[in-house]
Amino acid sequence: APEETPQVVIDAHGLPYLDSKLSVRKRVADLLSRMSLEEKAGQMTQAERSAVASGGDIAAYALGSLLSGGGSTPTPNTPEAWAKMIDSFQLRAQATRFQIPLIYGVDAVHGHNNLAGATVMPHNIGIGATRNPQLAEETGAVTAIEVRATGVPWDFAPCLCVTRDERWGRSYESFGEDPALVRSMETVIQGLQGRADGRDLSRNDKVLGTAKHFVGDGGTAYGSSTTGSYTTDQGVTKVTRQELEAVHLAPYQTAVDRGIGSVMPSYSSLDIIGDGQGPVKMHARADMLNGVLKDRMGFEGFVISDWAAIDQLPGGTAAQVRASINAGLDMIMVPYEYQGFRTTLIDEVKAGRISQKRIDDAVSRILTQKFKLGLFERPYTDTRNASKIGSTAHRAVARQAAAESQVLLKNAHDLLPLTKKQKVYVAGSNADDLGNQTGGWTITWQGESGTHTQGTTILQGMRKAAPGATITYSKDASAPVSGYDVGVVVVGETPYAEGVGDVGNGHDLQLSAADKAAVDKVCGAMKCAVLIVSGRPQLVGDRLGAVDALVASWLPGTEGDGVADVLYGKRPFTGQLPVTWPKSEAQLPINVGDASYDPQFPYGWGLTTLTPVPKGGTATLKVLGLAAAVAEKTGSARTGREIVTQARLLVQQKIGSGITASVSGPFADADHLLLTGKYAAAVAKLTEAYKAA
Ligand code: BGC
Repeated sequence: APEETPQVVIDAHGLPYLDSKLSVRKRVADLLSRMSLEEKAGQMTQAERSAVASGGDIAAYALGSLLSGGGSTPTPNTPEAWAKMIDSFQLRAQATRFQIPLIYGVDAVHGHNNLAGATVMPHNIGIGATRNPQLAEETGAVTAIEVRATGVPWDFAPCLCVTRDERWGRSYESFGEDPALVRSMETVIQGLQGRADGRDLSRNDKVLGTAKHFVGDGGTAYGSSTTGSYTTDQGVTKVTRQELEAVHLAPYQTAVDRGIGSVMPSYSSLDIIGDGQGPVKMHARADMLNGVLKDRMGFEGFVISDWAAIDQLPGGTAAQVRASINAGLDMIMVPYEYQGFRTTLIDEVKAGRISQKRIDDAVSRILTQKFKLGLFERPYTDTRNASKIGSTAHRAVARQAAAESQVLLKNAHDLLPLTKKQKVYVAGSNADDLGNQTGGWTITWQGESGTHTQGTTILQGMRKAAPGATITYSKDASAPVSGYDVGVVVVGETPYAEGVGDVGNGHDLQLSAADKAAVDKVCGAMKCAVLIVSGRPQLVGDRLGAVDALVASWLPGTEGDGVADVLYGKRPFTGQLPVTWPKSEAQLPINVGDASYDPQFPYGWGLTTLTPVPKGGTATLKVLGLAAAVAEKTGSARTGREIVTQARLLVQQKIGSGITASVSGPFADADHLLLTGKYAAAVAKLTEAYKAA
């Protein structure tokens, strides 16, 4: 705690709300009954920390919350400075009548990404590629430890967007195009928050999460607000009610069931075909926020607006405040004009245009989470876990995630994995650039190229993996290219956040001219593997023919070692495409299940370098045993029986006609999936294998 900390008297014999032995419900009711309208309005106000630099306004307006917008960091950007900054804000909050602590929020969307030296995970699209819910949970747990150790109890993550058009510049914040995949990765919520009833939130290694952006953020047409001139990503999601439910809303029911503490509406508009309303901004959709999220799904946390999003609603400030609060918003991320917002809110209540009941509901929801987080008892930073920030153990989780996120799209004549004896020529814009491999939302909002934090680039990882080997690096492939066994060209995007991606190398999913030239040069001269470091698929088109091995590396984070692990065979490639990989821009949007589906690589695609299981008779048993196990585990008798029958037929055909059944490829994949507990995916693989056979 800061030196000038006043003694906070937690007196069980004093006001009931300070008694931690009482239930949260009773404490909230007691505190609420004592608060003035002005104090309640303050609780519903969230300001950007740079706007209250002096801090005086925190007490003057009894502000309920502050945030660091992307890259809004203290100087120096160290754990100590974060803790000191937040504690000094909390100190101001202690000078209010009821000493209600602030709830401070950040966008830790792939690790504590604003903090220099923190562990940076792959962006969500890579986490989706791992198909590993347990790992997703671990990444959440690491993030929570690092975030809370700097005094931040609240994270604006995870994004539950289901990306349906990868021209959307936030596609990398999505776990993938399939709602079932997104839902399976929501284990990350437990990693962040702990148990679903919220009882772990007061721990010094957990934070409150935020499911965002409710709802349909990943479904906007063209991934943008306009067609033709792509400017922002905040467009219109036009869907049938059925699609809205099945694709975009489904992940939120999972989040509610997992006890998500807050929800952030989307900047986008929702246009439900046939409901007669036309496109309506999500921040004003009472039918969705009050109706679906709170009433139908039973969400008990609070709804935080997106950054200045209510300014986009029609009418002046009063109309915007009225529409959003009455639609179900509980706290507004103002973020600068907090004084005006708060005054308007008070005036609207006094004029009877927002009910006192609505205010009490909003404030109760906010206070409930503050009590659960233990902020009344411990408003200041518990720095005991600060030594874990960027630690070896945390980086090991990020490294595993980076490795498991790599999707092997093509692997002619088993070029990968590399051997340590090979002479390797490395080229490309993203081989040795930590900033490019971490992407947006890293240190700064947009992210930036170059070395802006601590970590290992892919090139550095390769050199560590094959010490003593000849690994020559030439970014633009200008060094002579002869005399090497294999080329590794690492290309892709440069960082961006929100909007539609970097111009020229972004919205149309085209590789840059420099990237194309590097690929052509290296792949024209030797066997080559191309790694694409990007937030979404990049079009390779006919170039694919000249490329021996192709890897979707996504945005793997600070641990380039993880990428090197799979390149050198220390771990197998096991990632699977979280989104469909298109052939051309004309195919967009393209998603699994589309009527005419003819992508370059289908959703779920991913070769494995796992060792195949034995051949022949063992294989027969293996297939049948596997099928039976899958049937049992999934509890799906029909599917299970079908698989067993099909597998038996297949094996009989092959062995019966004198051909030895080789259990490799998809069967080996299925085997691995089963071993890692991914039963549904194993069924899918087996079915796919049967069809192909
Ligand atoms: C983004 C949100 C983010 C917020 C706060 C907005 O621009 O859309 O995802 O949580 O900023 O930084």
